[in-house]
Amino acid sequence: MKYQVLAGTLSKIEATSKRKEMTNYLVELFKAITPDHIRDVIGLIRGSPYPDYEDFQYGMAEKMVIKSIANATGLTTDQITEKMKEKGDLGKAAEEELATKKQTTLFTKPLDVKYVSETLDKIGRTSGKGSVDVKIKLLAGLLTNATPLEARYIIRTILGQMRLGMADMTIMDALAIAYTDNATNRPIIERAFNISSDLGLIAEKLVKEGIESVKDFKVTIRHPIRMMMAQRSGETEEIFEKLKGTFIAEFKYDGERLQIHKDGETILLFSRRLEEISEQYPDVCEMVRTQINAKKTIIEGEVVAYNIETGELRPFQELMHRRRKYGIKEAMKAIPVNLFLFDLLYLEDKDFTNKNYPLRRKALEKIVTETEQLRLAVQKEIITEDELEEFFELAVEKGCEGIMAKSIQDSIYQAGARGWLWIKYKRDYKSEIADTLDLVVIGAYMGYGARTGYYGSLLMACYDPIENQFKSVCRMGSGFTDEHLETLQKLLKPYQVSDKPPRVLINDSIITTVDAWFKPAIVLEVQAAELTLSPVHTCALDKIRKGSGLAMRFPRFTGRIRDDKTAEQATSQQEIIDLFKGQLKKIE
Ligand code: AMP
Repeated sequence: MKYQVLAGTLSKIEATSKRKEMTNYLVELFKAITPDHIRDVIGLIRGSPYPDYEDFQYGMAEKMVIKSIANATGLTTDQITEKMKEKGDLGKAAEEELATKKQTTLFTKPLDVKYVSETLDKIGRTSGKGSVDVKIKLLAGLLTNATPLEARYIIRTILGQMRLGMADMTIMDALAIAYTDNATNRPIIERAFNISSDLGLIAEKLVKEGIESVKDFKVTIRHPIRMMMAQRSGETEEIFEKLKGTFIAEFKYDGERLQIHKDGETILLFSRRLEEISEQYPDVCEMVRTQINAKKTIIEGEVVAYNIETGELRPFQELMHRRRKYGIKEAMKAIPVNLFLFDLLYLEDKDFTNKNYPLRRKALEKIVTETEQLRLAVQKEIITEDELEEFFELAVEKGCEGIMAKSIQDSIYQAGARGWLWIKYKRDYKSEIADTLDLVVIGAYMGYGARTGYYGSLLMACYDPIENQFKSVCRMGSGFTDEHLETLQKLLKPYQVSDKPPRVLINDSIITTVDAWFKPAIVLEVQAAELTLSPVHTCALDKIRKGSGLAMRFPRFTGRIRDDKTAEQATSQQEIIDLFKGQLKKIE
């Protein structure tokens, strides 16, 4: 298959924000490709030849890419840099330069999907001495044979800036329609994705062996399972009602979630974003190696910083310092950690995700040798309100955020879903209308006075998974210390883009007021006093009242950067609607 066909589809997808249209373009593309190409095509659409959990990087900075374009076009790097500034995007700049140059070149051969995919792979795999030159040459080679439109997407792929605004869900919809003629088969594909996180592999199986083989998809060690998430509640009655009168309450530890794959002596740790972060926690790997008595297992737990003298648990922020401030060896000493285990998803070739929680916990208990540093999450079966309150107070006293209430009946591990089988109940949810939300930075306003030169306030959004859009909820200007301003400036800069990103939905009246736009990526914890109806913000637009959305009043940055969350894991639109409704109930 020609890469040109794929580039054509990508440009059509980029030009629309309607999910249905994107799906149709993809269906058309999938119908036109041969089975041997599907994995490459999925990789090229998603921006990497490998699933997200493989830490694959192209390793080419903007400057190197500019050199490749210079090699391919004969222009100087200054000319290309100038063009990039004009266009606000290196992909578009290369497209235009190539369009001018192409009139004079005759000997190019059309690019094939497989060839592009393999060359990109080679670029990523080249490392060590002399690799900079090799990478530049490989990319220049591709660009020499590329059409202008192809160049746009090759460069954006290399720089990780695809800007398509398309979610995996849309790709799965299109796969179901193209290969089974039936959109209702999407959940089968989705389940396979949730337990393997490898869409390329699933698509290939679907094309070559049919939907039945996708139904049989199995949990596989070393392939991370997309994590189950919790709903939140501030009402104990609601917890009892949702969990049918009795449930298991567990301490909700304030640390980082880990999904641990033990395959013999090999230990892999995956973060909530499914990135492999084993190297950050050699101490955890060692504990698992010696204290988990199983050959092959997938378990989950929370790693928490603690004070070695008093044994007290430390808040999440301390754990993040481990990542930012130190080399790993020093970090292990300065910020020691505990691991609290709470789930088991796979054991010696058996999939446990469809088993009830009490069974999973029992299996977990059997394979753990507990010590001070590695323990099972503290839990208790709850029947009465008093028991719940008492357990909650105990959790807070022990340095936890609150509790997790977990269903006993029908309590499978819902991979990738935020359902009511797990409910988090935190101290903040108990206060009247104060709550913290995890919101995504989508824009910024430049600061004045002491904040000149910094982003003075930020435009924050929630995520709507149904529309796959980020919708504004508030403009946040308080809670920032000077250190925060510096850190945020550095953190946000790489995500700055020249135009409003396609998946961001905001009211026309504020588009022109925003000074900087960001690709949705950075999630911040925000404390708010109240939610109100708003004529400006697009969160929950028309959902509560026609023409109105929901806004957060008096938002304040808590100082907590949620770098353990992806933009899509931010507080959802539905959660905000639920909070607003809960708030109304309390006022009544
Ligand atoms: P949130 O990140 O606010 O959606 O809350 C859910 C998170 O709580 C999970 O992703 C875990 O990182 C964390 N957590 C802490 N203790 C537990 C527990 N006992 N069971 C499940 N999750 C827990």
